[in-house]
Amino acid sequence: MDAYKPKAIEAKWQAWWDEHGTFETDPDLSGPREKKFYCLTMFPYPSGTLHVGHGRNYIMGDVVTRYKMMCGYEVLSPMGWDAFGLPAENAAIQNKQLPATWVRQNIDYMKKQFRRWGVGYDWRREVNTSDPDYYKWTQWIFLVLYERGLAYRKKAPVNWCPSCRTGLANEEVVDGKCERCGAVAEKRDLDQWFFKITDYAQRLLDDLEGLAEWPETVRTMQANWIGRSEGARVDFTLEDPGAPGLPIFTTRPDTLWGVTFMSLAAEHPLARRLVAGTEREREVLEFCERVARQPAAARSDAEVEKEGLFTGAYCINPVNGERVPIWVANYALMEYGTGAVMAVPAHDQRDFEFAKKYGLLIRVVIQPEGGKLSAETMTEAYVEAGRMADSGPMTGTPTPSGIPDVIRHLEENGMGAGAVNYRIRDWLISRQRYWGAPIPIVHCPACGTVPVPVKQLPVELPPETAVEFPPRGESPLAKVKDWVETACPACGQAARRETDTLAQWLCSCWYFLRYTLTDEERRPNDKPFDRAKVNYWMPVDQYIGGVEHAVLHLLYTRFISKVLYDAGHVGFNEPFQALFTQGMICKQSPQTGKLEKMSKSKGNVVSPDAVIEQYGADTQRLYTLFVGPPQKDAEWQDDAVVGARRFLDRVWRLVEGALESITNVASYDGDGSNLSSAGRTLWRKTHQTVRKVTRDIEESWQFNTAIAAAMELANTFSQAALTEAPAVARLALESMVRLLHPFVPHITEELWQALGHEPSVLAAGWPEYDEAACAEEELEIPIQINGKVRARITVPADASEEAVREAALASERVKKVLGSAEVHKVIVVPGRLVNIVAK
Ligand SMILES: [Zn+2]
Ligand SMILES: [Zn+2]
Repeated sequence: MDAYKPKAIEAKWQAWWDEHGTFETDPDLSGPREKKFYCLTMFPYPSGTLHVGHGRNYIMGDVVTRYKMMCGYEVLSPMGWDAFGLPAENAAIQNKQLPATWVRQNIDYMKKQFRRWGVGYDWRREVNTSDPDYYKWTQWIFLVLYERGLAYRKKAPVNWCPSCRTGLANEEVVDGKCERCGAVAEKRDLDQWFFKITDYAQRLLDDLEGLAEWPETVRTMQANWIGRSEGARVDFTLEDPGAPGLPIFTTRPDTLWGVTFMSLAAEHPLARRLVAGTEREREVLEFCERVARQPAAARSDAEVEKEGLFTGAYCINPVNGERVPIWVANYALMEYGTGAVMAVPAHDQRDFEFAKKYGLLIRVVIQPEGGKLSAETMTEAYVEAGRMADSGPMTGTPTPSGIPDVIRHLEENGMGAGAVNYRIRDWLISRQRYWGAPIPIVHCPACGTVPVPVKQLPVELPPETAVEFPPRGESPLAKVKDWVETACPACGQAARRETDTLAQWLCSCWYFLRYTLTDEERRPNDKPFDRAKVNYWMPVDQYIGGVEHAVLHLLYTRFISKVLYDAGHVGFNEPFQALFTQGMICKQSPQTGKLEKMSKSKGNVVSPDAVIEQYGADTQRLYTLFVGPPQKDAEWQDDAVVGARRFLDRVWRLVEGALESITNVASYDGDGSNLSSAGRTLWRKTHQTVRKVTRDIEESWQFNTAIAAAMELANTFSQAALTEAPAVARLALESMVRLLHPFVPHITEELWQALGHEPSVLAAGWPEYDEAACAEEELEIPIQINGKVRARITVPADASEEAVREAALASERVKKVLGSAEVHKVIVVPGRLVNIVAK
């Protein structure tokens, strides 16, 4: 055997897998689904090169793919490119290139990177979301929603990123900032397209329960984002008899008799109306504009200074007919309820602070048992349980247990009704950017909004050279006259195309369905997917990706899946059976001195190309997997990588050194009874290692401890075992090679062949273990006290020194002999004897 030369070996096996279509799958759809396994790793933005931190989830996905293949599953392992959207467009602009060129170039490079990692994909299924053949069907999905009344256009105050120059969905605004670029998001009144995800709020919440194989954190984040709260709608009215009602939502209808003012959100259309033509108009409008520009997160922060202005108008509280002054307040949010909040300063801390600041009335309507609160002496709102007071017919009702009684009272008197409120808002789907799928709508002066018929899809983007970059705030498509001007699909008259594009999040809501078709099966592209194929493969058995997508991609995808299900296009309601969210690879930043997520701006990026060049891809894979538990963040240390390489060198030398002795020997499959001691030890360790690695992968994805177990097996391999039990040596080496294959696929293919087998080791199957063979042998160990054998104990053969020492001192016989003597020293000779020195 030659020395271990990863470069040559890795290229050889990558070519072999390609030639043999190792990762291509074409199952018999009528076969049983129990043995199908769809392993999906979130596809990347092709906006640059991948670093070793990115590598982690793809490598983990590959471990699962290979492991499942060895376990006899038909595995679907595809990859593609989330190529539309801001990241790609922004990167292209920065690099002074056209997005399509930029994307193409990056895809070519990143594909090479995947290949060099030895990550196995069925490339016949590759998707590129910016390919017209693909986005034709993204547009079709828009039309499915449109036809079902789930897509609508409306002028609304929306999040606006001044840096990305586009509207953003609520989910894209994190702590008041643009999720992509970190700029503080503003509010703007714009005509935008929305998806009615709110219609699905309850189902999205209910079905979280079935997602038992999702991380608890992600389910909680989604539940919080959906934000269901129960309470009542209460129909306040405006004083002006011709005015519309002022319905509000409250979770505390038991405090209705304590309402002393009403807070409107700065964006509430009523604020503008109430002050129109009054002397307060200018001041209130200025206030509203100023507050509306502040991020919602800052406004809802409990610490923020409460601010507001009286509008001069009043509304009527239906429960007691009282006139209630209407204020605009910075802490009232349009996102909550109806944007109008009844204020009960005695029982809500924010209202309390506001009332104190502006000298507004405070009225106690809930008294603690046995207590007598007074508005004059309160220093904070009372929010605990108690009995309703000064509450008309409801006075004396215990609360919160009596809230249903209050709701019944409202319903019986036509003042309101029980209601459920959700925090989630409709999904803003339109973007004022070029690099996305055009929204397939035509605006006709005669017909209004007309959907483009499916047979006219795709509505292709105009060539990039016709479009002006960078974006200026309205869609660049609006400037391409030839493209915008079209004929109405309904009446044929001159009409204009919708110039906004679809958020890239929609492209990634269905890519895993497209993967179920190969290139060939996609022709002539007359359908987005094949129902039978989708229903065979879906739901995805294992999805792998970052937790940052918890309320973005993972929520949107669940929504779109449910819509497609309702429309009869797919037979599943939830797309992802199991979800794994990997931790990040961090590295000390030379700029900040701290451990940071790898990024160019932190100067701590490690290129896989350099690591592979120096040590090989298998070393990089092994180190990435060994660095820590996969769900946790881990630190990359350049000087620790060599340790992974040393282990591979060691495995290589073990096989090389054993070959001569085991060439004509079959792998051992006896019961261990006829083996020498060294042979037995290795035989037992082999079975134990197979059990440990299998369990670590199956139960908790503990790849790091699985690898550590394989390392222990290598340590147990001995010259004595090789000489005395070559058949066991072969069993141990073959097991090690098979167990290591998912982690380090190239070297194990090479060693499998060296051991006299036909490739691929994937076809050799996953090794099995025998529970009986794993059982520890027991040893009887003599115990000397001051040089004389006084007792014997029985311990597991591989018990640690510490365990043997404890067992010796715990022995009843030893205690008796020692009596009151003091133990000075305990010497353990592993597997042989224990010597106790006592006086
Ligand atoms: Zn931005
Ligand atoms: Zn028309």
